[in-house]
Amino acid sequence: MVDRYDILTIGAGSGGLYSAYRGQSHGAHCALIDKMGVGGECLNFGCIPTKVLARSMETYRSVKSAAEMGIDVGTDISINFSKVMGRQKAIVASLVKGIHTGFGDMNIDYCKGTGTIVGPHSVQVQLDNPQPGRKSGFILEAGKIVIATGSVQRRMSIPGAHLSGVLTHSAIDGLDYGVAAFPFKSTAMAVIMNQTEGLSRLIYEKGSGKLLGGHIFGPCASELIAELTLAVHEGLSVKDLAYLLHFHPSLSENLQRAGRNGRRMEEKVGA
Ligand SMILES: Cc1cc2nc3c(=O)[nH]c(=O)nc-3n(C[C@H](O)[C@H](O)[C@H](O)COP(=O)(O)OP(=O)(O)OC[C@H]3O[C@@H](n4cnc5c(N)ncnc54)[C@H](O)[C@@H]3O)c2cc1C
Repeated sequence: MVDRYDILTIGAGSGGLYSAYRGQSHGAHCALIDKMGVGGECLNFGCIPTKVLARSMETYRSVKSAAEMGIDVGTDISINFSKVMGRQKAIVASLVKGIHTGFGDMNIDYCKGTGTIVGPHSVQVQLDNPQPGRKSGFILEAGKIVIATGSVQRRMSIPGAHLSGVLTHSAIDGLDYGVAAFPFKSTAMAVIMNQTEGLSRLIYEKGSGKLLGGHIFGPCASELIAELTLAVHEGLSVKDLAYLLHFHPSLSENLQRAGRNGRRMEEKVGA
């Protein structure tokens, strides 16, 4: 590490990592400090470990219901919990390793230690395990300091909520909106996958059919939602979603069918 950086970020979770990657790719020399190690809550306790466990449980459920798919696997199916946890640890470790490789490739400096801001451009770094004969604490200087130390959930006022285009609660209350849905149980691919619970629900502006948002409960919801996010971002309507070519059979047809329901409701109102 050097003594001075353009940007010094405290916290190497998702937010801190992003700030360092962005800063470095714009030509700033960036460093990160984290008292726990890289990856923050997402990689070490949250998003990734929970999804690894969820995937193991999905596999268990699939194997248990294999007979329904015409596959006989016997009855002695059990969860090897220590293997599940071992896989979880290995995945986290490999992703942590990938982050460190990225630091090397991008020339981002990293230090495991606790950061305390002691001046407008100064951070005191306290190392947990200093190397023998090395200092346990030192000061780093930076043009800008980014605080990315995570947060606890709390209600807060949102800056920019008054800007045009941002829908506040009262604006939503005054909005004439429609809801169009379609269940996964009527979507061929969901039936093929034997995962028929849930539905897609679109919320749109009545009259224009413009998509305002939506919900997806069901198989691969976290993948499917990207189509809806893009549609909302681009100001598309239920009609656009209905007419867009979707692969058949696919889970994404569920969104298309919800779009068709919305389009039909809009046409009824317009007729
Ligand atoms: C069980 C669970 C499941 C989740 N699943 C998802 C999901 O599927 N999808 C999703 O998008 N989000 C999910 N989240 C939320 C996600 O984990 C957080 O939104 C994300 O981790 C926030 O990132 P962050 O960088 O702001 O903070 P954090 O990840 O909390 O990182 C902050 C970092 O700052 C470090 N730090 C704090 N103080 C100091 C200091 N003084 N000096 C040095 N370092 C310091 C901490 O050690 C930590 O590593 C989940 C959360 C949980 C709990």
